[in-house]
Amino acid sequence: MFMYMFRKPKLCTQCLEVGKPKVHTPGSILITLILLIPFFIPAIVYEIWRVTNRKYACACCGSFELIPPESKRAKQLLSAGKVAG
Ligand SMILES: [Zn+2]
Repeated sequence: MFMYMFRKPKLCTQCLEVGKPKVHTPGSILITLILLIPFFIPAIVYEIWRVTNRKYACACCGSFELIPPESKRAKQLLSAGKVAG
């Protein structure tokens, strides 16, 4: 839950959306639950893999190309985007 509380807004380099990203976790909790019954250890390993490979994705387009909005590249992208309309 703390991850959600401390999320900072990010700029998406794909759609130029600035906002709080969503957390993208690979795999599925369902697989963990299915594995958990007959294979307890692999299920735990799988769950650890999912959590450690978690990353932020743009809430708008799902892109992983997120940069801090205060960075130089973000300002360049935003000004270019404004000129283009
Ligand atoms: Zn996006």
